[in-house]
Amino acid sequence: MPLGNLTIRRALPVRGRRLIGRWCFLDRYGPVSFTDEKPMDVAPHPHIGIQTVTWLVEGEVVHHDSLGYEAVARPGGVNLMTSGSGIAHAEETPPRNVGRLSGVQLWVALPDARRNLAPSFEHIPEVPRLETRGGIVHTFASEADLAGRDVAVHRGEILHIGIDSAHEHGLFILGGDVELDGERLEPDALYYVEPGRSELAFRSAGGARVLLLGGVPFTEPILMWWNFVARTPEEIAAARADWEDGRRFGPVNAYQGPRIPAPPLSRIVQANPAS
Ligand code: MN
Repeated sequence: MPLGNLTIRRALPVRGRRLIGRWCFLDRYGPVSFTDEKPMDVAPHPHIGIQTVTWLVEGEVVHHDSLGYEAVARPGGVNLMTSGSGIAHAEETPPRNVGRLSGVQLWVALPDARRNLAPSFEHIPEVPRLETRGGIVHTFASEADLAGRDVAVHRGEILHIGIDSAHEHGLFILGGDVELDGERLEPDALYYVEPGRSELAFRSAGGARVLLLGGVPFTEPILMWWNFVARTPEEIAAARADWEDGRRFGPVNAYQGPRIPAPPLSRIVQANPAS
């Protein structure tokens, strides 16, 4: 599926798996090499009801939003945007770049008690990094009920990682070869691990990167449509109307170019988030 010039693979939601805890969206893009073009160019679009998490393996993405924040995400750091009741943002490859791009775009559904709070944005230049036997673990998201980690397994090593047994987990290979429980994990597939385990052991022959998403199973029924996560079709329709009519979300003044119009509401039965 194309996103601008970039091919993305949607790992969540997929048939049979809509959520990993409160993680409700995972797009994988790259790795791609480029010269003059701008592989990431997502024009201004709105969100409600989520936090977006931009985590990169290679390259840069510059974020601009309707609160006026500008922040360049780079490997080892993370951009966290809390939409609350409404925010708009744009994400692009910046003019100064390394000519490579590889990363993931994640969404976390906000619980009902927090989903209508004011929007906010946080740039963390360096997330917690743990060197351990067999590899390196970056923790790019950590809350009472969820965790997001990037696990680098060194070549020829086994890495043991403790996980919360109250969490369900999703595994996604970002690169390299990796075995879990003697099974070779395939690229571009989401693997699900039920709650009840307290440790995973990853083995890699040539070195690997594994995205590890965990969370307490989320029982609030959510409705996803386009870039919105809500509870009712009426909330979705109101957010769509506000975006189309220029209310609520505000402009992303730093972006040069038109914003993304909302798709027709007749497609509300089909979840179709852009990014
Ligand atoms: Mn977005």
